[in-house]
Amino acid sequence: MAKGKIYFDYENCKGCLLCVNFCPTKILEMDKTHTNEKGYNVIRVTEPEKCLACAFCAIMCPDSVITVERFKG
Ligand code: SF4
Ligand code: SF4
Repeated sequence: MAKGKIYFDYENCKGCLLCVNFCPTKILEMDKTHTNEKGYNVIRVTEPEKCLACAFCAIMCPDSVITVERFKG
């Protein structure tokens, strides 16, 4: 069960993939079907139920694109 949920400020993503590379459960990937206004492919969550709410993705993102909501309990 998901321990949390992440949200993206998509317009500030530059597709550097640091979040993808540092997610311990490997649930992030480049979404090849969606680009933002700047023309970068954004990131999508493949298996949201596996999110640990560890925030590694948010910490690694150089542009503070990701916000982590940690579920209680
Ligand atoms: S919070 Fe952790 S488990 Fe969830 S997407 Fe980010 S790096 Fe992956
Ligand atoms: S680390 Fe941030 S800027 Fe880089 S791909 Fe992930 S969300 Fe986008």
